[in-house]
Amino acid sequence: MNFQTPYYWYDLTLLDKTLNVLSKTAESYGYKIHYAVKANNNERILRRIAHEGYGADCVSGNEVLLAMKCGFHASKIFFAGVGKTDDEIITALQHGIGALVVESIEELEVISELTQQLQRQANIILRINPEVDAHTHGNITTGLKENKFGISESRIFDALSIMRQSSERLLFRGIHFHIGSQMMDFDPVRELCIKVNAIRDAIVSEGFYPRIIDLGGGLGIDYDYPEGQPIPDFVNWCQAIYDTLRLESGEEVHLEPGRSIVGQCGMLISKVLYVKQGEEKKFVILDAGMTELIRPALYGAKHAVRKIKRMGENNRPVFESASISDNSELYDVVGPICESSDTFAKNLPLPPMRRNDLVAILSAGAYGEVMSSEYNGHTKPRVFYSDMKLSDEEH
Ligand SMILES: *Cc1c(COP(=O)(O)O)cnc(C)c1O
Repeated sequence: MNFQTPYYWYDLTLLDKTLNVLSKTAESYGYKIHYAVKANNNERILRRIAHEGYGADCVSGNEVLLAMKCGFHASKIFFAGVGKTDDEIITALQHGIGALVVESIEELEVISELTQQLQRQANIILRINPEVDAHTHGNITTGLKENKFGISESRIFDALSIMRQSSERLLFRGIHFHIGSQMMDFDPVRELCIKVNAIRDAIVSEGFYPRIIDLGGGLGIDYDYPEGQPIPDFVNWCQAIYDTLRLESGEEVHLEPGRSIVGQCGMLISKVLYVKQGEEKKFVILDAGMTELIRPALYGAKHAVRKIKRMGENNRPVFESASISDNSELYDVVGPICESSDTFAKNLPLPPMRRNDLVAILSAGAYGEVMSSEYNGHTKPRVFYSDMKLSDEEH
């Protein structure tokens, strides 16, 4: 007997190991970590990450509330996002969160009014668009001129002049940058840091001293062969920053990793419903599709797919060899949803596949469960953890 598919399975041991390496690395560089909640807002995972003492990077009022519920200290919560509603801003102010990460002059004006109405102060971090290309997928690049995120360099001084006018209520805490996601080399990070040095100097020359220099998230994970690098390269990420960012005394580096913390600890387990012989191709049709994991359909993302041989200890899947063998065949691995983009892989070599075989779609811990939907009448996927037994089946 197995858990009923499709479901997410989280390897909490790997999550703990990843947190351990990240904490040691961050500590040795003296950098502070805020987990980007949007990557995975599963409560068990949030609680585990909060326990590590990290802050949270949130992008909605509900994420702020969830982060607090799961143990993140309000003072360590940053709230970013280009479209904060008045209600969300008020919620954040009332809970006294660490800072609002402000993405436009227009937003700054609204926050200034709301702080006046509420007779409260707001910690402000200005998100600046550094115009650095993260060289990643177009839909996850955020630091280019054409992107909607952050305040453009040419308007920084307008932002500072609003800060100056409202200096009793708007407290300047720092500057924030996030150039994109799934970065696999560190040249964009170095390029960013060199820009940040100049932007910080310009801001200081206006009489504003940033305590927090937040460089966002974006560290990538190995989707091609996750078994080879289950824990991302936190050290070289930090080292690239250390090598290029000029820190003045009293300044703190904050990082906001999302994907790199949770990406490799989750997999989506699905059952083969049919192996369909098409005109030219063989299709493996799964009971999971873009409703359970939308990244391939949304970003053209590739996830490794493994045939499961059996379930091992704690329902940890044991895979048939990942290497291509003589009897491998080429399959298109697709979901059941009525969309052509509902495709996980094309021409993928797999061992011969049959109805009722189980497969694992790897590296699904980030932007997986959290993006699942009920399209086509699917129910939200079930979730199991490496410390659960079959009898613990919940939901
Ligand atoms: C999405 C996001 C992150 C996390 O990005 P990852 O690529 O998952 O590390 C961090 N900061 C901000 C502001 C974000 O929007």
